[in-house]
This record gives sequence, C-alpha cells and structure tokens, in this order.
Amino acid sequence: MEDTVLVVNCGSSSLKLALFDGQHRKQASALAERLGQNDAFARVEGQEEIIPLDPGASHDQALNTLVKVFRDQGLMASTPTAIGHRVVHGGETFREAVLLDDDVMDAIEDCAGLAPLHNPVNLSGIRATLAQFPEVPQTAVFDTAFHQTLPKKAFLYALPEAWYREWGIRRYGFHGTSHAFMAAEAARLLGKTPATTSVISAHLGNGCSITAIRDGISVDTSMGLTPLEGLVMGTRSGDVDPGLFDFLRSKGVAADEVHRVLNHESGLLGLSGQTNDMRSLCELADHGHEPSQTAIDVFCFRLARYVGAMMASLSNLDALVLTGGIGENSARIRAETINHLKLMGFELSPDLNNHHGEFSDGRIESPDSRFPVLVIPTNEELVIAREASRIAGSAAPG
Ligand code: AMP
Repeated sequence: MEDTVLVVNCGSSSLKLALFDGQHRKQASALAERLGQNDAFARVEGQEEIIPLDPGASHDQALNTLVKVFRDQGLMASTPTAIGHRVVHGGETFREAVLLDDDVMDAIEDCAGLAPLHNPVNLSGIRATLAQFPEVPQTAVFDTAFHQTLPKKAFLYALPEAWYREWGIRRYGFHGTSHAFMAAEAARLLGKTPATTSVISAHLGNGCSITAIRDGISVDTSMGLTPLEGLVMGTRSGDVDPGLFDFLRSKGVAADEVHRVLNHESGLLGLSGQTNDMRSLCELADHGHEPSQTAIDVFCFRLARYVGAMMASLSNLDALVLTGGIGENSARIRAETINHLKLMGFELSPDLNNHHGEFSDGRIESPDSRFPVLVIPTNEELVIAREASRIAGSAAPG
C-alpha cells in the first residue's frame, strides 16, 4: 500500500484538506468555506459541484463530510500514513514541527491567547482528525516556527521588558511555512544552496507579510505579536499608531471595537470602501473609482517601504521573491511596488513581468536591475506534507 499524507488547514471560517502521494504529489484537495455561517459549503478542487454543509457547520462537521466525500469518490483509497496540520501560533514553545500528543495539544491551547481566531479552530481540526484517524501519526506545523530565529533586536518591542518576560509580548511573525518554501525555491532557481541564499520574501495574499532571510534563516519579518502588524492586507490595517486606541476612546469607540475594525474592516476593504479583493480593486480603479486606486497606492507604497526596512537585516541580497494570490498574479501591483524602489536598484522587465508564468525560472527583473526579482507560487501544503512524512517516518518504530 502506497504512503499518502493528508494535510489539514483550518482557517477562522474555512477548512482545506489536501491529499498527497508518497512522492508528495497532490492527489486531491477540497475547501470548505463560510463555516459557522448559514451558507457554509464545500467543493472538491476541479469539480463544479457544490457540496452542501449544514447551516452553521463547524470545522469538525466539514472535516467529516470532506473525508467521506474523498472516500466515496475513491480519492482516498486507504487510510493516510501521516497527517499534517497547520497551526498558526506556536509561541516560543515550538521552533519546529512536532508530533502531536496530549502535551503538544495543551501547549497549543496555551498559545491560543496569542491567536484567538486561529489556534482554537486549528485544535478543533486536530481533534476531529484524531477521532477519524486515531492510529495515524499527526504532526503540527507552526506558522511562527520559521521565525523563531529572529534576533532579539528584531523580535523585541520597545516596551517594558517585564511585558515580554511575564506575558510573552514580542514579535513572533507568521506565514513561516510560505517564507521557508520561497527561500528554498529561490535557492533552487538561482542554483544555490538554501544555507547560502539570502532573500526578501513577500507573501501577498488576503494576509500579507514580508521576511528578511539571511543564509536561509529568518532574521526579520513584518508581522508581530499577532498577524495584524506590518503590511496593508485585505481587511487588516497593518501598522497603525497605537495612540489611535486612546484617541478613539475619546470618541466613544471601545478598544474591542477598534480591534474588530483593525482586523475586519480596514486594509484594502477599509480604504476602498468596496472590497478586500485585489483583483476587483484593480477593475474598480480601471473604471475610475478613486478610493480603489488609493487603496492600491497605499498597499504598494507600504510594501516598498518594508522592502527597504528588510534590507537592514541583510549583508547581501540574492533576490526579492513575491508570492501569494497578489504576488503571483498581479503584474500591476508588482510594477507599482518596484517602481518605488528605483533608488535601491530594483527594476522590472515589463515584458517578463506581464508574461510571468510563461517562463519557468520565475525571474521578472530587467537586465539592469541590481537584484533579481522572482515570482514563486507558494505551496504551504507541500511543506506541511513533507514535514508530516519526515516526522511520522522518524517516529515510526524502526
Ligand atoms: P490568497 O489569499 O493568496 O488566495 O490571495 C487572495 C488575493 O489575491 C485576493 O486579493 C485576490 O484578488 C488576489 N488575486 C488573485 N488573482 C489576482 C489577479 N489576477 N490580479 C490581482 N489580484 C489577484
């Protein structure tokens, strides 16, 4: 019987399942969306048919439904040999992926205060999967783990030191599996080893973050204690002046309301007043909708500023790497961002930028550019599948 790896990725209102074969080639995947809402539904990748879920369906129900669909359709012919879970916050406890057991689950629960929207749903996905496949080794792969190499000067906030010591208030960073993947892929494409490759990697999806990776190791990143800090995102503000909280209190807006708006009604959505979706924003801007163009401008400018900020952690740069739905697909956003970085010597080839995807090496810079610029489709599930196989393999009795 061939080895297979199941990857489970629970977002705050979504659940994605992906099944890989023993060579880590994806065999099937499915996505359940709008979980907890009345119109929850799921779909198998590549199939038109909508799989109805009960109104308000939970992550457990979605997982059980999708496993049954995989089995009924013959997509999952046998029990997986390993299972990998994406877990958002591992605090300072987890520097790498680990085999799940009761102690690890308790520790993930302990980190839930740092990621209240994510760790509890990650745990409910883990529990539901354990109930379905009690005999299969399961691995937790943390978004924060790759950034545990950040030096103190990069992870400490300039706050009372006791807040860090007693409450763990520091910068953790997220999207670690994606940044690790980009760094390794960039090294491969440039014909170098990961341990000698330094890149700035920008993950630009609905959530956005940028990381400085020096000789394969994360040394600075834009997200902080929570995934709210840093770049402008779909609905998240990224950096704001913390003085905002007191100012808004004077206007009668309570802290939890500010928190909600910063997470769910800001970013591209807040600026445009229309949508958090970059593709739609580009269309709106093309039709003369000024707030949408402003949202795009703020997004690109903030991103360019952060590229500059990441330079402070590097002594050389092998490439700037872009990924995520926006980084991979939007020539316009790439061009507007790089346009701000002329003084640093970045320059795109308009032709390569516009026709990215037709070229296999991912490079889109002009011959005059001081640094390569690469577009690399991210593959967090593949990283999780590899980690789950590796850890299940080393846990197996010899
Ligand atoms: P992700 O979270 O990685 O799936 O990325 C989602 C974001 O990518 C959304 O804002 C999409 O609008 C954006 N996106 C996907 N395709 C394009 C495109 N062709 N042009 C601009 N933005 C895109």
